[in-house]
Amino acid sequence: MRNLIIGLLAVMLTLSIISYAWPLILALMIIALVGLVIVLIMKNRYFSSDQFKEIKNEIASVVSEHNEISKYVDEIRGGRRFNIGKSTSGMHAHLAKSKNTSSWKYRRDRNVADYGSEFVHNAGLQVVRNAQADPIKYLMKYFDIPATEEKLAEVEEVGESISRLENAIANLKKREDAIAITVSPPKYIRTFFLKEFQRQLGLSIPALQIPYPQYKFQYVSAGGNSSQVTSITLNGKTIDTLLETMAEKIKFRQSAAGQRALMTASFRNHIKTRDNFTCQYCSLSVSQEPNLLLEVDHIQPLSKGGLSVEQNLQTLCWRCNRTKSNK
Ligand SMILES: [Zn+2]
Repeated sequence: MRNLIIGLLAVMLTLSIISYAWPLILALMIIALVGLVIVLIMKNRYFSSDQFKEIKNEIASVVSEHNEISKYVDEIRGGRRFNIGKSTSGMHAHLAKSKNTSSWKYRRDRNVADYGSEFVHNAGLQVVRNAQADPIKYLMKYFDIPATEEKLAEVEEVGESISRLENAIANLKKREDAIAITVSPPKYIRTFFLKEFQRQLGLSIPALQIPYPQYKFQYVSAGGNSSQVTSITLNGKTIDTLLETMAEKIKFRQSAAGQRALMTASFRNHIKTRDNFTCQYCSLSVSQEPNLLLEVDHIQPLSKGGLSVEQNLQTLCWRCNRTKSNK
């Protein structure tokens, strides 16, 4: 808001110099300035009031639990793999150098193919267009994600990381909303000073973006005049569809392998519902703690050959799951 008012003042100042209406503009400037000072005084009084400090003490444990989950979000983001498959279209590109040696004024390499990334597949225009129409099929084909049991488990693991992060971040947002309702600050505080509000309460807000891998199909014409890109974001939805497509193919080839369940969003919900939204270790449940962060855990991990079947899955609260995976 301060930036806005400073900008407004700058505009008014410029206008007052060039305009005849300068007395009016000067008056408006003074009003805006006085308004700003009043709001800042009100804000400082609010944060130093006994009432605010009292509420802050009351919710200290809620804030500290929020901050623990915030730390947990950083752990998930830092400790897990979010990628799967890669393109080999630029595999040895780093061994070569290219230079535009045209002596014409108009350089024609406006569009340059990106060979540096494993997640960019350089291809002809037809492939780029088809990838748009049939993204999963093209993702599998050109980024080396074959429909095998092994790869399926790998995709499930990546899907799990992404879903845990999405789940934990959604949970943090719910907690922040609940805190805001409990504290119930004046509206101008939430509108203009939300960051300061969170800082004053001692809330630590982690980076909320999820590092969804992006896969690109890219075409660059020979002269560099035109280019086209199709990109696929590997978010929860894409992963679920990818899993279903892979399983469909595996089932087609050998019937027994296709019988296992898939770790999709709806299957995770199914397990949580089956367990009555209750942690199977500490028995804490959503009915006791509405904002409890629950996760679905493989009793025998995927990496140790555990399968995604009902008997091998359980609902755990984030605390118990973190303790389990640290062991
Ligand atoms: Zn638990």
